[in-house]
Amino acid sequence: TAPLPRYVREVLQTLRDKGFEAFLVGGCVRDLLRNKRPHDWDVATSALPEQTLALFPRTVPTGIRHGTVTVLGRTGQTEVTTFRREGAYADGRRPEEVIFLKNLEEDLGRRDFTINAMAMDETGRVTDPFGGRTDLRRGIIRCVGDPNERFREDALRMLRAVRFSAQLGFETEPETRFAILRCASLAAGLSAERVRDELSRILYSPRPERAEDAVTYGLLDAHLVSRPKDLLKELSRLAVLRKTGDERWAAFCAVLARHGAISDPGAFLRGLRLESGQIRACARGAFLGKELEGIPDPPGWKLLLFREGEAPVLCAAATAEVLKGPGYRRALRRVLRSGEAYRPEMLEIDGQALMQLGYPEGKELGEELRRLLEHVIGHPEDNRREFLINMAEGDRRNPSPKP
Ligand code: ATP
Ligand code: MG
Repeated sequence: TAPLPRYVREVLQTLRDKGFEAFLVGGCVRDLLRNKRPHDWDVATSALPEQTLALFPRTVPTGIRHGTVTVLGRTGQTEVTTFRREGAYADGRRPEEVIFLKNLEEDLGRRDFTINAMAMDETGRVTDPFGGRTDLRRGIIRCVGDPNERFREDALRMLRAVRFSAQLGFETEPETRFAILRCASLAAGLSAERVRDELSRILYSPRPERAEDAVTYGLLDAHLVSRPKDLLKELSRLAVLRKTGDERWAAFCAVLARHGAISDPGAFLRGLRLESGQIRACARGAFLGKELEGIPDPPGWKLLLFREGEAPVLCAAATAEVLKGPGYRRALRRVLRSGEAYRPEMLEIDGQALMQLGYPEGKELGEELRRLLEHVIGHPEDNRREFLINMAEGDRRNPSPKP
């Protein structure tokens, strides 16, 4: 397996030198075994949080109550968590308390899936009590222990199962799948933020179409007005939206709306506690994307960009691409890259210049800039200072009649 960054190795070694046990656990072990570079490093240890705090010069008490201390290294950080298990669970949400443990095995047993329930020491030796390596090799998501129990303890695990299947391209083992179908209604009790975070990981994964599983299992029922079927074909097209963020939410909303699963994208996204800026761009983009009749020509795009702003138009193009077919995003990109003006600030003339021509500051000046922009949108070649000054001068002398 890949070598560990020095700052991670040092954390493991320091803990061990002081007589504690210390292992890499969770996602980073899974990623190392798949020869993928982990994006964060989790260590489980027998040291209590105060002991970890005392051992390292630079630490952050990230989640002391749950046993987690962040150790800052020169080039990265490591999350160090005391071996623990959850205390009693309250209604499929978060555990009320945690209980610190002396050894690794039980800590691995509280973890959600076999592929996430392995540990590794700094020599690469793997502890794998639940067959995680086999499941990793075969591409299987399987609960640790009885899936019904595990989902009743924490309903988020059902969405996490879909999420890992989308990120890794794995299949969910049948018992685990049946348990999701049985326990799906418990997802209604999850906080919207936790649902949002898992759903966005699904939508941003290489297999966003797996969001269909979240829908058909019933995991999103609390956020939908009805549970649609056959989203797969349209959601598969989300995968073409490479290097995008909010666009995927917009297109997802549009697909749900088309199938009657939601009536108002804005309300759906508000319910999932997206940020207000995202909600505006995605909801508007989902609407505009649905309304687009064919791929607009460059002036058409620029007019849209002028009226709506960039974010909603990006979302609209992505939505149209998913609902109607290819070409929208490429056409929009070409316009954005052309450098042609679609905002008043992109004109080769500004308010200052208009004032020198005698336009009073305020409404009239704004209207003239707008008129110049509308002309330039249709005639990009006219975006020259000289031309625009002449045009503005003409308008000043012969004001067009107000509609
Ligand atoms: P990622 O690469 O996306 O960070 P990850 O596996 O590291 O994936 P995290 O959410 O960071 O996922 O959680 C770290 C580890 O903690 C998991 O691998 C798993 O062992 C455990 N874990 C996290 N959430 C749960 C949960 N809800 N129930 C049980 N175990 C969990
Ligand atoms: Mg992680």
